[in-house]
Parts: sequence; structure tokens; C-alpha cells
Amino acid sequence: MSAKPLGLVFFPAFDWAISPSHPEREERLLYTRDQIVEEGLLDMPGIREYKPSMADYKDIERVHIGVPNLRSLITDAHLVSAGGAITAAESVIRGETARAFALVRPPGHHAMRVVHGTRGFCTVNMEAAMIEHLRQQYGIKKVAIVDTDVHHGDGSQDIFYNDPDTLFISFHQDGRTLYPGTGFTDELGTPNALCSTVNLPLPPGTGDEGLHYILDQLILPMLDDFKPELVINSAGQDNHYTDPLANMAITAQGYARLADKLKADIAVLEGGYSIEDALPYVNVGIILAMAGLDYSKVSEPDITRCPRQSVATTAYIKRLVQERQEMWRNREQLRRQAIARAGDFWQRKRGIYYDDSGISEQQLESVRICPHCHGYVTLATESGDYGINAKSAFAAIIPRNACSHCRQEARDRVLRAKKQGRFDYYFIQDKPADHLEEL
Ligand SMILES: [Zn+2]
Ligand SMILES: [Zn+2]
Ligand SMILES: [Zn+2]
Repeated sequence: MSAKPLGLVFFPAFDWAISPSHPEREERLLYTRDQIVEEGLLDMPGIREYKPSMADYKDIERVHIGVPNLRSLITDAHLVSAGGAITAAESVIRGETARAFALVRPPGHHAMRVVHGTRGFCTVNMEAAMIEHLRQQYGIKKVAIVDTDVHHGDGSQDIFYNDPDTLFISFHQDGRTLYPGTGFTDELGTPNALCSTVNLPLPPGTGDEGLHYILDQLILPMLDDFKPELVINSAGQDNHYTDPLANMAITAQGYARLADKLKADIAVLEGGYSIEDALPYVNVGIILAMAGLDYSKVSEPDITRCPRQSVATTAYIKRLVQERQEMWRNREQLRRQAIARAGDFWQRKRGIYYDDSGISEQQLESVRICPHCHGYVTLATESGDYGINAKSAFAAIIPRNACSHCRQEARDRVLRAKKQGRFDYYFIQDKPADHLEEL
């Protein structure tokens, strides 16, 4: 057992649900809390509970650009969920806890930089709000996010796509077979940050064996190389074999051993919808492992129902790991080549769908390739149904380490766009000034 305790933060968000019968509802955490109380975990000296604080709008504005504005899109529950993640993280930073786990909802890893509505149950990216809070308040720089949810963490990927100081690693069920349909191996980051996004799409039916092979052979060595100041786990539990929204074969023991090896400084709950059959066991296993306590007896009553990983899947995972190891070894060369190919700007045009809000967004993203800083980003975004309820915005994001030239150029581009008047709203997210400005 570690000398310092594990910090736990609970926030079940009683008044927030997609709909009353939707799996993303408060019972998701209440069963877990019951189980934790029943096992006597909260009375153990190795575990300390914290009440979540409420995040400021400023914490959210550091990460998101809401169209038309953030206040019309988010609720107090989102501020407490993000605040719970920040509370957990600060208990670690202040040295009161060895690590911490924020069991909060609503979840956040599908929320992208620009927010027009709710997608994959997410409106605010809790981990991103937490990370940027830590960077602003405590001068943290290098951070790794390991997303262990069954769905691709497309929001977290998007927010840090141009940030070489954030290593984002996500394993998930292959996007050809599951929401949100992204997270393929060729999504590697912008040229400025190439190979700091690492996607590991896995076939349905992947079990503990495959997961731990990837962890041992790839994820842990990459973390060793990257040397982050903090490791954050986006702790989704929907890879469990009983989860109703996905098709994987991970057990509570598989998750607990993962938490034990990963040794994340901070875990933030993401998905997991097998409310009675999985979540209580998986969460208890993760909590025990994070607290350095014995988790070997945690097991589901119906564990014999867990399917076995197929031979084809084992072979696929071996190839995937080999290929990604090679990418990782060559990352500096690959980044130089991508920068040379891009020239002054890297551009990407995409459609983004907000399944919970029924909104489609079209986005044109342009990233300045700058030899002196991480380069600014501009986003031209429009949502709505061909002119009906259409909302558009033009925004620039100035990176924390911006050079004076990029800072001026980003500002000029927004001012010029406003003069031309093609959009409804204009924003500058100025990270060095810690300010979201609406023009
Ligand atoms: Zn704080
Ligand atoms: Zn999920
Ligand atoms: Zn620059």
C-alpha cells in the first residue's frame, strides 16, 4: 500500500440524463457507490473521499468554443463533473493523495473544441478542462491521456490534435463497427504534433489477453519514452463483456490489472453502461488497484459467460502492435516529413454529427506550421440544416507557446473575417492571455 491515500470524487448528477430510460443516467454511479460502501472501501485508511467543486466557465472556455455561446449549451451538472475532475487532480498536485479517481458524470471524451450541441452524451470535455486548468494554475506541461473507453475518444483527440505536449493514446472497438466511427491508425495529429495521437482500433471480441499485450508491448513503453508529468486515464468501462452498447470481452480483473500497470495519476470516469452486471465490479477493481490494495478477489458472478478472444484477433493485434512500434520509433522523422509536405498551412475539412442534438456541423480547420511555436489554428464552422437554424462561427486558437508573429497573424485573420462578415460569431481563444474573446 502507498503511504498516501487514493482520492475519490463522486458525482452522480441526479438531475442530468439524456432521457429517463437512457443508459446514461444516475443509477450508473449509484450502484457503484452502493458496492463501494458495502465493501467498506470508504472506511479504509488508504482511501479518502473528496466533494467535487464546481468548475468556472473560464475552465471550460480554455478548452471549448461554444456556438452561439457556452452558457446556452451546458448545465450546472457539467460544471460539477468538470469540477470533480479538477478536485481529484488537485488532491494529487497538492500531494494529499498518491492518485485520484473522479467518478463523475456526465462524461466528456466526445466533446470537441467547437461545441454546437451534445454528441455521444458529451458536451464538455472533463479531462481537457482539468488538464488546461492544471497547466494554467500549476505550470504542468507534458501530459499523457490513455483513453480506455470502448469508444474512440474523438473529442479529446480533437482538442489536443495540434499539441505535441499532450500524448493521446486511445484503444477502442474498431470505428467500422462502433460509434463514433473514427480512431483509425492514420489519425496521427497535425504535422506540428504528428505521432502524439495514437489510435489502436481493436476487433470486436478483444479480451484481456489482447488488451494486456498492447499495454505491455506498446502503451507502457510509449509512456516511458514520452515522460509525461501526469498520466490521465479516461476510464471508460464499456469494454466489459456485458456492456449493452459494445462487443468487447474485457473483465473486471482485466480492467483492475490495467489500472495497476498504468499507474495513472488521475482517472476520470467515461462510459460504461452495464449498470448492474459490470460497473460495480469494474469500479471496485480499479479503486483497489489504484489504492495499491489486493484486487485479486474481485470477480463477476457470471464470469464464465465471458467470450474467448479469437485466434484471428490475436494475430491482428500482434501486427497492429508491430506497426505502431515502428511508427513510434520513427516519429521524429515522420513529423519532419509531414511538416515539409504541409508547407505553411495544414488544412482539414470535416463533417461532425451531434447524435444527441441532431445537428450536423461542417468545419474547415487550418493549422499554421510555424518553426518557432506550436502554430495557431483557425476554425470555420457552420451547423444546421442548410440555412434553417444555421449558426456559423470563425475562431482562432492561439497556443500557449505562441510566437509574437503567430499571435498577431491569428488575431488579424479573425478581424479580417469579421470585416468580411460571412459568419455569425467570431472568437479568439488566446491561451497565453488565458482569455476567450468574442469579437
Ligand atoms: Zn484550482
Ligand atoms: Zn464509451
Ligand atoms: Zn509561431
